[in-house]
Amino acid sequence: MRNSDEIWALVDDHVPEFRALSDRIWDQPELAYDEFAAVAEHTAALESQGFRLTRAVAGIPTAVMGEFGEGGPVIAILGEYDALPGLSQQAGVTSPAAMPGSGAGHGCGHNLLGASALLAATAVKDYLKAHGIKGRVRYYGCPAEEGGAAKTFMVRAGAFSDVDIAISWHPSSFSGVNAPRSLANMRIDFTFTGRASHAAASPHLGRSALDAAELMNVGANYLREHMPQGARLHYAYIDAGGAAPNVVQSRVTIRYLIRSETLPELRDLADRVRRIAAGAAMMTETQVSEQIVSAVSNLVGNTPLEQAMHRQFERLGPPPFDEADREVAAAFAATLSPQDRLAAYNRMGVPYDPDAVLCDLIAPPCAEGDGASGSTDVGDVSWVVPTVQARGATCAIGTQLHSWQMTGQGKTGHAHKGMVHTAKIMAATALNALTDGDLLARAKAEHAAKMAVTPYVCPLPDSVEPPVRGRPDAA
Ligand SMILES: [Zn+2]
Repeated sequence: MRNSDEIWALVDDHVPEFRALSDRIWDQPELAYDEFAAVAEHTAALESQGFRLTRAVAGIPTAVMGEFGEGGPVIAILGEYDALPGLSQQAGVTSPAAMPGSGAGHGCGHNLLGASALLAATAVKDYLKAHGIKGRVRYYGCPAEEGGAAKTFMVRAGAFSDVDIAISWHPSSFSGVNAPRSLANMRIDFTFTGRASHAAASPHLGRSALDAAELMNVGANYLREHMPQGARLHYAYIDAGGAAPNVVQSRVTIRYLIRSETLPELRDLADRVRRIAAGAAMMTETQVSEQIVSAVSNLVGNTPLEQAMHRQFERLGPPPFDEADREVAAAFAATLSPQDRLAAYNRMGVPYDPDAVLCDLIAPPCAEGDGASGSTDVGDVSWVVPTVQARGATCAIGTQLHSWQMTGQGKTGHAHKGMVHTAKIMAATALNALTDGDLLARAKAEHAAKMAVTPYVCPLPDSVEPPVRGRPDAA
């Protein structure tokens, strides 16, 4: 067990610089595919730590990969650094108080996510260097997790094709191995094209694209009752055809977000939604076309890696929160509803403790209580590489992801401790896989067996490119 202890000391050696990195990312929140400051920060950190750099992974300017080591297995540690619109909040303030600026904020804790993953990769790098072990550790700085699904594009481009295992994490109320449960999803823009006309003088000459979109929504709402368990449908008007009610709207675009528990189920459900769109077009004598915007796959679990990570959690114990952390967390907990707190416990399958404000335990491995799940683009990585994810306690229990409370806690002492704690778990799990050929073989065998039953088909058609933008200050 000496190895794991040493790896934890190597994490501790770098805490101040990576805590500062996380705070700087928090200070300049950037949305999907616009993370130019964040990728510059992560690239500079990789460079100063002596990693070999691959910039613009998969042609995405805000993606970066750093590698250290020679030969041996390749362990990928995945980070993210994108923020969310509308979730700006002042650090440490316990009532809604946006910062001046863009309105964006780190409401999902990705400032911590990226810095912790890079800290873990740095500690593994130091270990490989000190012991002359054959093996490579890589940090993947992955942009646009929120709605952009950059990892799916990176998978499609082969960015993980020579990786043996992948490790990641997400900020949470509790610490423990993440249950590999997330929904596959696809965003499709449906555009209806009709014929404009005066809505009073010549309505009979018009063909309304807006009518078509509304009829599509009616059809989709009837479809809901007949979807597979766990499937979800959401929609939003991207272009409702204009603000003039005296015009028959001739062009309308509506975005559908279709979610399902598995990739094959998602493809079937998307086809059913397409038929509803075609039916709406037929009823209104309009035309419909579609554009897939993004897609992600569900998570595929890996039992050997989950067990290995849980052993590290058991050895390390819960995060070392102190009374000062609990005081700050209690102020945020006071802004949460009893339902928020209860839902967090139910979700993790952990017995409810009315007095706890921060996680003082390790959740059961892959704890799966009740509650729905969202989607993550780590899903696609898990179809091509055996993948394991941790949950790391960084917030008052019951804090919802994508909330001002999550943004407000992003620079607190407890967030920093949770970030360092999870970096230790990821680094120790990576080292375990690098030095235990049997673990690696079992992880790969389980993955191969799953893929033999349901092979991976990338949900993104080749024609869809990531919606990347140039650097704003570039000529
Ligand atoms: Zn997130």
